[in-house]
Amino acid sequence: MNLTRKEFLKKSGNSLLLLTAASLFGSCSNNRGNAGKQKTGGTMVHYKIKKLNLKHTWTIARNSADYKNNVFVRIEKDGVFGIGEAAPNIRYNETPESTVDTIEKAKPLFQTYPLWHFVELGDAIRNVGEEQTAAKAALDIAIMDWVSKKMGVPLFQYLGLDKSKVPVTSFSIGIDTPEVVRQKIIEAEPYPILKIKVGKDNDEEMLDTVRSVTDKPLRVDANEGWTRKEEALEKIKWLATQGVEFIEQPMPASMFEDIKWLRERVEMPIIADEAVKRAADIPKLAEAYDGINIKLMKSAGIQEALRMIYMARALGMKIMLGCMIESSVAIAAAAHISPLVDWVDLDGNLLISNDPFHGLSLKNGKIGLNDQPGLGLEGEF
Ligand code: MG
Repeated sequence: MNLTRKEFLKKSGNSLLLLTAASLFGSCSNNRGNAGKQKTGGTMVHYKIKKLNLKHTWTIARNSADYKNNVFVRIEKDGVFGIGEAAPNIRYNETPESTVDTIEKAKPLFQTYPLWHFVELGDAIRNVGEEQTAAKAALDIAIMDWVSKKMGVPLFQYLGLDKSKVPVTSFSIGIDTPEVVRQKIIEAEPYPILKIKVGKDNDEEMLDTVRSVTDKPLRVDANEGWTRKEEALEKIKWLATQGVEFIEQPMPASMFEDIKWLRERVEMPIIADEAVKRAADIPKLAEAYDGINIKLMKSAGIQEALRMIYMARALGMKIMLGCMIESSVAIAAAAHISPLVDWVDLDGNLLISNDPFHGLSLKNGKIGLNDQPGLGLEGEF
């Protein structure tokens, strides 16, 4: 019988499963069986939807919003709790309701796996249903907060990282009228690097307005807004004359060949955002992009984000760490791993007016992490 490579891998996967089952129920059934069924004594998992109000109406190429409903998770075990956050994004078919639904589906796993087996627990959570990575990120962040709290060290220290190496964050300016853009740039005075959203029909007006007020380094994000490669080429060449460092997702993620075409014709680094979610996406993207924008909400949390960082590094790609509209919880989680990346765009908490948590500081555009265990946050769940 001739097997295709896929069939072979599938078959070997099945045999591995059979082997595992055999060892579980076979001669060593007592040890392995007990390990598999080990009761955690019950890790409590709670969640709450919280409305985060935006300081300004937030407009990007895709949509516009005045507030976001994010889902917060609190896990508790042995008198220690961990906090996580999901920022559901409609681009990825996520809503607060679908997020809650996924958390409910994942809850029983917290009875199967002890929190100390967080690698295995994390894998199991990522395998619950299809996608819904924001929900899974909330659980993973809460788990890693709990683990490092239990160890009595800040998360960055648990991961062996130097918090003084957190890169300066950019501050995002959403698409708006020249008057409002000018006002936003004035309010963004404390931030040394700006990220400008484009991709609607006023790109030149946006950039002209920004440049009329500031000469700060700029990064530009089109959020898949340009759909013709010739248009994208023209825009990027023009952006290069405006002191722009790189362009993020100039064209839709699905237009891979067009982005490859584009990359052969421009000097400016092209960064994948909507095109990349997890480590397995990265090798293919290396053909069309110079770097990737990792977001915990896309990667399903900290553990997969770390794998993405190592994968991208191995392929010689640049790494940016970004965010959605998020409170200090998800921003802190990303900040703790940010000493590993080149560029940081972690301003989600700065765009909202009612952050339920605190513990991060900001100095000269750099996020400051304290030395409290875990994420180092306090606040109201
Ligand atoms: Mg982006």
